[in-house]
Amino acid sequence: MALPTETAFVSDAHLAGGYWTRNRGTILGVAALVVAIVIIPFVVSSSLMNVAVFAMIFALPAIGLSLLMGLAGQVSLGQAAFFAIGAYTHAILLTTFDLPGPVAAVIGVAGAMLVALLVGLPLMRLRGHFLALATLGLGFIVAIAVREWDFTGRTTGIYGIPRPEVFGIPISNNGYFFWFVSPFVIVGLVLAINLTRSRAGRALSAVNDSELAAESLGVNTYALRLKVFVLSAGFAGLGGVFYAYQVGIVSPQVAEFHLSVELLLMVVIGGLASVWGALAGAVLIELLGEGLRDLIPILIPGATGEVQLVGFGLVLILVILLLPGGLHQVVIGLWDAARKRLRRGRAAGDTGAAEVAASDEPVAQLPRVSSPVPRGETILEVSGLTKRYGGVVALDAVNLTVPAGEILGLIGPNGAGKTTCFNIISGALSPSSGTVTFLGQQIAGRKPHVSALRGLTRTFQNLQVFTSTDVVGNVYMGRYRLGKAGILRGMLGLQGTEQHANRRTASDILSSMRLTDAADVAAGSLPFGRQRMMEVCRALSSEPAVLLLDEPMAGLSGQERDMLADLLRALRDAGLTIVLVEHDVGQVMSLADSVAVLDDGVLIAHGKPEAVRNDPAVMVAYLGTDVKKAESELEELV
Ligand code: ATP
Repeated sequence: MALPTETAFVSDAHLAGGYWTRNRGTILGVAALVVAIVIIPFVVSSSLMNVAVFAMIFALPAIGLSLLMGLAGQVSLGQAAFFAIGAYTHAILLTTFDLPGPVAAVIGVAGAMLVALLVGLPLMRLRGHFLALATLGLGFIVAIAVREWDFTGRTTGIYGIPRPEVFGIPISNNGYFFWFVSPFVIVGLVLAINLTRSRAGRALSAVNDSELAAESLGVNTYALRLKVFVLSAGFAGLGGVFYAYQVGIVSPQVAEFHLSVELLLMVVIGGLASVWGALAGAVLIELLGEGLRDLIPILIPGATGEVQLVGFGLVLILVILLLPGGLHQVVIGLWDAARKRLRRGRAAGDTGAAEVAASDEPVAQLPRVSSPVPRGETILEVSGLTKRYGGVVALDAVNLTVPAGEILGLIGPNGAGKTTCFNIISGALSPSSGTVTFLGQQIAGRKPHVSALRGLTRTFQNLQVFTSTDVVGNVYMGRYRLGKAGILRGMLGLQGTEQHANRRTASDILSSMRLTDAADVAAGSLPFGRQRMMEVCRALSSEPAVLLLDEPMAGLSGQERDMLADLLRALRDAGLTIVLVEHDVGQVMSLADSVAVLDDGVLIAHGKPEAVRNDPAVMVAYLGTDVKKAESELEELV
């Protein structure tokens, strides 16, 4: 099934303001929700109250699923399994073991998270539809297990679950239960929203955009995806706990596939790009279910059972076809239209101040660099590096040493093995044999985040832009390796200062490449050349010790190339080590302290630019077989 796995567009513009500016949407939204929650039990009918209670219960697993799908881009068709584990564990502990409600609830949630951890360890290595199918399988296993196991009451399930009590007051009707469950939904919602804006949340959405780029900035993508999978299961388990309380019986129905589909529908209909969508989707689907239960038997005489599922299937198809962004897309569309109208009104009385501000480019300043070893000492060493693709030898026993604080130019004709060499050094590829030593540690064959965390980062020949955020958001992601806050701190919103400082640094780095005017532009809509410069800024913002640049000048104008060359020289002088793959031989010769030449995977020369320029082997291999002709062509190039 092809589902939209769209990530929230995380605009960083709001980070520039104070607490209120940054959080006013959430604060106003939560305030409105609290008012609605207080009022609803007084004003709605008893059948609608029932709908409201279940909407709140199912909002919890939907919020978890929204984090998993919307933020991390992982499609799960097994969310009902964790809901069922929470419900059954809670029910069994209350009825069989007589545990106090809160204790049973905590164990129920922990149980769901533990199972998610165990199955997630192998499953999180899967991607896209493979993960969807694997979670579907998990859902079936849990559904069959609870039906066949005596401990879970087989087809009868667990019944006689006592109603909860709060301070000795029994939660005896739907109104009270609604107030009982709603605070958990509000807290869950706020925690989830905080997470989407946190260091971990940004990293998750970056992983969804480009796993390779995220890894090369220090994100341990596997661990992060696993954590969000477990967190998502925790939300589902909590939903199950409340379900058990509300219904009083937990039967195999709670583990069935159609519940996973309903949860999926809630998230898709609400819009994957917003956690609020999960709540809105839960309300809509519960209302829709109620309506369809009455409507379908009228349309299809004799229809009985879970007839609303027919309508759900239809709605899912229609939403995916016609409104892949769900309700969130509609709301954002209306909001944008209203803002445009407002701006047009303001523009009428404008004096042109905005234009002045846009062209007021700040003075360029040098990004900070760090050099953990003294200039001239070996910082990176490649030894016997070989990569075979079947019969093709892309790299053949290449040896290279890179001294700290220098620029090494890596050149060679098309297909010489430059990118392969880069990919192995950065961890994107494993070598067939050989070693890569960075700061004394062997890194060949290890994931890119390992070396990135120690200070080795890169840009890409084929751009790897984080399209779900703006330009400053991309550069901001470069700061990831320097931060510490994990998922928990992110959920609690305890990163304000760090975020603020990062935003400022990202803006400063953009100014060093004259990209300030593009800071708040969606990264994907930037022209190709500026995207490339943005990637360089992103890599620089991680304050690397070694920077691998894969054809950074491709697609840049002459002026931009000169600006980049000046910046690289200044960075080298400040202590940064740079390895530069570039087809512009003239730029490489003028920039590099030493040049290495690959041809057909073999290192044919390595030395000072002048020596390499006059090396006959380079002339022949790089430019052709006729040395005289090659000499004159090389003269022209440099
Ligand atoms: P260019 O300058 O065109 O980017 P390059 O010097 O970066 O070239 P590589 O992309 O590293 O060269 O490719 C080196 C060799 O390895 C080429 O012959 C290429 O066809 C081959 N190669 C690269 N990747 C693969 C792959 N995944 N499977 C098979 N062969 C590959």
